[in-house]
Amino acid sequence: MMGRSFKEILLLLLCAIPAGAVMPFAIMRFRHEQWPAALLDASFVCVLLGLFLHVYFTRETRVPGVVLSLIFMVATLGSIYLLGNGQIYWAFPALTVAFYLLETRYAALLSALSLLAIEAMLWSSTPAATMLTITLTLLTSMLCAYSFAATVNRQRTRLKHLATIDPLTGTGNRRAQNEKLDAVNALFRRAQIPGSILILDIDYFKKINDTYGHIVGDDVLIEMADLIRANTRPTETLYRYGGEEFIVIAEHTDLEGAAQLAEKLRLCIEQKTFVSGIRLTTSFGVAELHRGEGRQGWLGRADEALFRAKNNGRNRVVQGAPAKITLLPQVATAGERT
Ligand code: GH3
Ligand code: MG
Ligand code: MG
Repeated sequence: MMGRSFKEILLLLLCAIPAGAVMPFAIMRFRHEQWPAALLDASFVCVLLGLFLHVYFTRETRVPGVVLSLIFMVATLGSIYLLGNGQIYWAFPALTVAFYLLETRYAALLSALSLLAIEAMLWSSTPAATMLTITLTLLTSMLCAYSFAATVNRQRTRLKHLATIDPLTGTGNRRAQNEKLDAVNALFRRAQIPGSILILDIDYFKKINDTYGHIVGDDVLIEMADLIRANTRPTETLYRYGGEEFIVIAEHTDLEGAAQLAEKLRLCIEQKTFVSGIRLTTSFGVAELHRGEGRQGWLGRADEALFRAKNNGRNRVVQGAPAKITLLPQVATAGERT
């Protein structure tokens, strides 16, 4: 199993430590028959332990993050309301946790509302100078947390873009392609939802480079990516497989659907006039994911079909052979297509 992310570990700690700290109070209050306080403490401990188990077993962090930041903020406001401005210190960690666990705009909204609630609760009972200090320190912390979270988000988006997008064509790169292939494979194994790939390779592209130069060749690749994107659905995603080879991953699509899509794209490309009046054709290898097959086997069958398309005269679509790996005899028969 992969190591836990920092966010998971933080969430587990933020659930376990307060739950452990409040548990003795809950027990003590039950013993002293202070029922309302005992029930309140026990519910707090139960919710935190529930969140802990949820994060521990599912590794899902979004919903627990939202619940936990709300719990912390409500607990902070509750203790300020009940015990006065001496509890204001809790607002600082609660605010920091909110900016770490929530989307920045929701954290900003939650902390702004909390600031207003604190002002309303303390206004009449706190000296003006203390009130000013509380307001200014909270506002400063909020602004710093906001700008820090916004910067991290911007950098994360930029990094993800750099790590997954091909700089020339703007399509997904190998890394993004492999992630999508694995996701489609996981969905197939879990719910038998089909998925197919189309590998397309431009015919005689070297001649285009030789005749018009590499810069025009690059422009053709950009136009090719745009053309394919314009003729595919959101569930049919495009990646640059190699130099002048692209791959379309068609989710929820069987071999027949994928072959139809390939034929449609082949025709579109054949009919388009590219930069400098260039006309060109493409060859396609198509393969549907089969049971018991990994990413390599799946790609290999599409690649082999592409090889046959090239050998059979180019500008055509060839469907991949059935997978060699079979787990159950009846599945192999059912999976076979012509
Ligand atoms: P085939 O029909 O067999 O596919 O012939 P081909 O000429 O397309 O195939 P080959 O693999 O021999 O040549 C591919 C060419 O693609 C060679 C390389 O110069 C060119 N190429 C690869 N990446 C890029 C790129 O990023 N920009 C440009 N302009 N050309 C590229
Ligand atoms: Mg090639
Ligand atoms: Mg080629």
